[in-house]
Amino acid sequence: MKSMRKVVLVTGGSRGIGEAIVRKFASEGFDVCFSYLKSKDQAEELAKELSRESQRVIAVKADAAKADEIKNLVQTCVCEFGRIDVLVNNAGISEFGMLVDMTDEQILNVLNVNLNSCILTTREVLKIMFSQNYGKIVNISSIWGISGASCESVYSASKAGVVGFTQGIAKEVGGASINVNAIAPGVIMTDMTKGYTKAELDELAGCAALGRNGAPEDIANAVRFLASDEAKFITGQCLVVDGGFLQ
Ligand code: NAP
Repeated sequence: MKSMRKVVLVTGGSRGIGEAIVRKFASEGFDVCFSYLKSKDQAEELAKELSRESQRVIAVKADAAKADEIKNLVQTCVCEFGRIDVLVNNAGISEFGMLVDMTDEQILNVLNVNLNSCILTTREVLKIMFSQNYGKIVNISSIWGISGASCESVYSASKAGVVGFTQGIAKEVGGASINVNAIAPGVIMTDMTKGYTKAELDELAGCAALGRNGAPEDIANAVRFLASDEAKFITGQCLVVDGGFLQ
């Protein structure tokens, strides 16, 4: 069925930044399809809470590390809504530790979930966006992809890869009126940062010009802007949203 509304596909929408992005687009009248992996109950509750009679929010289990599940996710979104106006590549994981202590599996999993999924999901969605001659893609990178973080070297590499991919693909698809941008969040209060102690979080907040860590909504607002027609002359960029952490 073809949606009368604009349609957004968000990867990793069950918690944290992804959940805030889902809520933001739903509140602005989009039909939303989002993926999750482990948080089934949270995902289904979120979809139920945000769905209205005429506006639908659907949750699809799809492992971002698996190409066949990515294809199925995109197909499900198109079958349900008939189009994809906006793709947000948000699903991500972090692995903290010295590189020499990391297993092959840990390294490949970080690269698969954070970088390869962004590339593979974009490839599938571009096939739809080319036929529409319209689309907005926003990829979630990280400030660590710009500056590098000790004990998160693989994570940093995956997020730097997202920036390079964004720059390259933006040049490839601009002629089809498709904008591709990235956002590099600073420290955002989600499950991903709950491993830090309060003292460490306070110290990180003190490193930001604004003196605080970010909320998931700070990132969702920036995603919404880059996905809007107000940003239609912006492409291939990485917008740092970190409260002034990187100086
Ligand atoms: P989070 O709270 O840990 O949430 C991660 C989300 O990604 C969850 O919805 C999770 O779904 C999903 N996910 C993880 N692995 C997946 C997989 N293999 N397949 C499908 N979905 C998967 O993390 P967050 O802080 O919101 O991070 C969101 C994005 O922002 C990530 O790309 C992260 O690298 C980036 N980021 C975060 C920060 C920060 O400080 N928090 C800073 C910079 C960048 P399930 O729970 O259903 O598995």
